[in-house]
Amino acid sequence: MKKSLFVSIFFVVFASACSIFGVHFKLHNPNSAGKYPENTEALSLLGDQESKYRKCFDVFAYDLDIKFSSLNDDGEIVGSVLTHAVIRVPSDTFQFDIGSDLVVDSVCGNFDDGEFYTSAWDRLKHSRLGNTLYVIYPLVVTGQYEIAVKIYYHGKPPNAQRPPWKGGFVRKKDELDNPWWGVACQTEGASIWWPCKDVVNDESQRVGIQIQVPKGFVVVSNGRGGRSERVEDDTTFESYSWNVNYPINLYNITFYIGKYKLLHDTYSSKVTGDTLALNHYVLEQDYEKAKAHFPQLKEHLAVYEDLFGPYPFYRDGFKLVEAPYAGMEHQTAIAYGNGFKNNALGFDYIILHETAHEWWGNSLTAYDLADGWLHEGFATYAECLFVERKYGYKAYTDYMRTYKWTIINRRPVVGPYGQRYFNYKDGDIYTKGAWILHTLRETINDDKVFFDIIKTFATRFAYKNVKSQDFIDIVNEKTLSDYTWFFDQYLYNRFVPELEYYKEDGVFYYSWNDKYTNADFHLPITVKGVSTAGAVVLRPQLAIDTLHCAGDNEPEMRSNVLVKFTENKKLKRKFKKQLDHPLN
Ligand SMILES: [Zn+2]
Repeated sequence: MKKSLFVSIFFVVFASACSIFGVHFKLHNPNSAGKYPENTEALSLLGDQESKYRKCFDVFAYDLDIKFSSLNDDGEIVGSVLTHAVIRVPSDTFQFDIGSDLVVDSVCGNFDDGEFYTSAWDRLKHSRLGNTLYVIYPLVVTGQYEIAVKIYYHGKPPNAQRPPWKGGFVRKKDELDNPWWGVACQTEGASIWWPCKDVVNDESQRVGIQIQVPKGFVVVSNGRGGRSERVEDDTTFESYSWNVNYPINLYNITFYIGKYKLLHDTYSSKVTGDTLALNHYVLEQDYEKAKAHFPQLKEHLAVYEDLFGPYPFYRDGFKLVEAPYAGMEHQTAIAYGNGFKNNALGFDYIILHETAHEWWGNSLTAYDLADGWLHEGFATYAECLFVERKYGYKAYTDYMRTYKWTIINRRPVVGPYGQRYFNYKDGDIYTKGAWILHTLRETINDDKVFFDIIKTFATRFAYKNVKSQDFIDIVNEKTLSDYTWFFDQYLYNRFVPELEYYKEDGVFYYSWNDKYTNADFHLPITVKGVSTAGAVVLRPQLAIDTLHCAGDNEPEMRSNVLVKFTENKKLKRKFKKQLDHPLN
């Protein structure tokens, strides 16, 4: 998902202002913490990925088959979803999720012993508890079987209030007054528009998406596909069929309906030697604009492949799809709605950001959205790395600085597990996440090791679910050091570390402020202006240290790391006290 509109506007306005006007914003550690939503029963049922009736089965394929009765405001979905799963724990009950605006018409089921289906498509019992649908087999299904559950449903999914952040169906019209529809549901979950096991830690290996719409409109979805013939099609409806051939998380499954025209292009990879099909879909009236604007994508792909390894979805191709909302990382069908505009640096940051998600979020996916910084922080940092490659290190640090100003420190970067926690208002998973990676790079102080860590993370966990600890483990492995102290502070303590300092009468006092900084945090800090010999590297602690310094220069703290620097006159007096009463 793209960052909030505020961040993007901020970037456009201030991208170059920081360096032109010398504006330096300060990090802020607010006293009041941000709240988390109350963990209601409904939230717990949706968010608990380890619950009994979810853990018992593992989905490997979905086949959606839906029809839009009309593209007017009152149009609804009618269709079915066939779920294929293996059994992990013997059970007769399986949990699905279904939005409150959807009605279950019937549920059929089957099971397979690996050779053949042994029962007919019997109607299955099912019971609904709010947005949870329990499907009940007439017997306990054991591990040697696969199950196939077909849920017939209909309904009218809710309109998105602020897509893509506050998601739902986007039922808009293009400038020629033609219906132009889409869906974005990262925050809410895919079950707002189709019944599924709505978790992020059980990715389907394959998905088929069949959609019927009134004639004259094009349906675009993930993977490969296009128009298809169906016997049910009449003079007023036609069908589109799309297939995803890689693991995919469910909020990435999407559709776009509009008066689209195909814009075909290709990308030749220097990394793999392969050719990637770029089958973009844009509104007919925007075709020429897109044709001039979209080729920059190839430069983005080339940098990302070099940094993070091969593009993960060659067989499924890649496409930008003009969308009636700003942007979203829908796998191999990226939503693009940024009006074909470049920023002050000359690139379209929506294309850059959403494309980065193909590695960060789509291929490698968080086990729980509480670790959403592994998607957003890495995608935001990917933007910064592209800027460094194209415009140099100074441009990179300027770009980073514009993001620093937006860090709010109201909640820890890693949120609560088991609650499907993804707060679109909390920009820290984006910008603080990127700054954590930048600070890690500065701390490791060896780009070869740092970039090896990043690429290893992307490739070792390609198509897999990950937790923050998986990343920390790679950092520790590659640096031959233990960075737990670093991530404990930056991921789980909502505050940024604060270094207090003061200089008087040739003495420089400094210490971490324990209100904001963990006791074992030991980031080295470079300071200029306290020694005639040049920059000095400090190793601050919670206890106050001193440095005898020459000259009347003002100390200049290194602001190229995620640390708040605060001058505090009281340090001198506190230091005296500390001498009188040394810490045990
Ligand atoms: Zn994003």
